[in-house]
Amino acid sequence: MIDENIFKRISARIDSYRNEMIELQRGLCAIPAVGPDNGGDGEFLKANFLKEKLRELGFKNFKHYDAQDNRVKSGIRPNFITTIAGKNNSKCVWVITHLDIVPPGEIKLWSQDPYKAYVKNGYLFGRGVEDNQQDMVASIFAAKAFIDEGLTSSHSIGLSFVADEETSGQMGLYYMMTTDEELFGHNDLIIIPDSGNHQGSLIEIAEKSMLWLSFKTIGKQCHASKPQLGNNAFTAASYLVTKLAKLKKTFPKFNALYDPPTSTFEPTKKDQNVANINTIPGEDIFYMDCRILPDYNLDDVINEIKKITAKIEKKFKVNIEISPVHFLQSPPPTSPDAPVVLALQEAISHVYGVKAFAGGVGAGTLASYFRKKGYQAAVWSKTDQNAHQADENCLIDNMLGDAKVFARIFLQD
Ligand SMILES: [Zn+2]
Repeated sequence: MIDENIFKRISARIDSYRNEMIELQRGLCAIPAVGPDNGGDGEFLKANFLKEKLRELGFKNFKHYDAQDNRVKSGIRPNFITTIAGKNNSKCVWVITHLDIVPPGEIKLWSQDPYKAYVKNGYLFGRGVEDNQQDMVASIFAAKAFIDEGLTSSHSIGLSFVADEETSGQMGLYYMMTTDEELFGHNDLIIIPDSGNHQGSLIEIAEKSMLWLSFKTIGKQCHASKPQLGNNAFTAASYLVTKLAKLKKTFPKFNALYDPPTSTFEPTKKDQNVANINTIPGEDIFYMDCRILPDYNLDDVINEIKKITAKIEKKFKVNIEISPVHFLQSPPPTSPDAPVVLALQEAISHVYGVKAFAGGVGAGTLASYFRKKGYQAAVWSKTDQNAHQADENCLIDNMLGDAKVFARIFLQD
């Protein structure tokens, strides 16, 4: 049973942090932490800044799981945890957030500098303020409220800050879990606040499988005034893009647990081909992001794609090389009755007054690493879902509300 007077004290304490939370957001936002796969120099400086702040805020125990990566200046992809002992330490409530961000994309689509966070109409704007700093900051101040009130949580509290979420994850959570197999206990409550819905009512327990592919089309380069001398790789690739649309019909299964309820197959990134207009490109590279219902085997999807590309190769006399950039067959879902789901439901209903339900999404969050190893992880956040967009923003009330949800879970028996 939760002592409601204690929760009221904690809640009031969290409310008093509003400005401090915004300030921490500003500081984090000002240090872009883009991974090397996305053209950045990694999370090192942001992690150092954060750790310094955590010390100032009263956190004492830190443990590092830094992965080596010589593609970044520091040579390090930082991962670290901080823990606070509870009354009963047989289990730990973990909140796991990621340090890295995606690049801002087209700067002209932003109303202001994406790395100078600002407040407008109750929202914070800036790259990373929602994904994943909203809940990173929320989890920190939820735990700080216990420190400042001199209260001990029911179970131990674990905050984990990881690198490399936006790309492969190999240097982030995956690295931590393989370096220290005992770090997370199978009784622990594992919360990953990195996806959700506007009402805060979606607790994500299942994810689609993820398949990212690159398509390299090889034709023959020549002068654009004499196309007969070459073979336009861009034309063939464009034709291929339209043909890939039929994958939706080949893999049509529907499952209402997920939003959207079907598999998705979206062409996304495109590498530059030739630098000038008057050359026919001999090579063209584009990428596709597929989120596939777990019922399907990813190898079957790749085989179907190969059938489509074989036809294009024949028709346009090109070669098409398909390489998987990310291949993650979805593990079995977390049970809708798992303790972490029930804990979230109780806290969400108390803080936000909504009845949360367990569902599935198409995003590849960190929960899949846990589920693969048999942990019951849940993904939850109250968010307007504008991660990765221009003018990314976070409703400040969500940051405070989510902190209260975490704090309430820290108080649960
Ligand atoms: Zn994220």
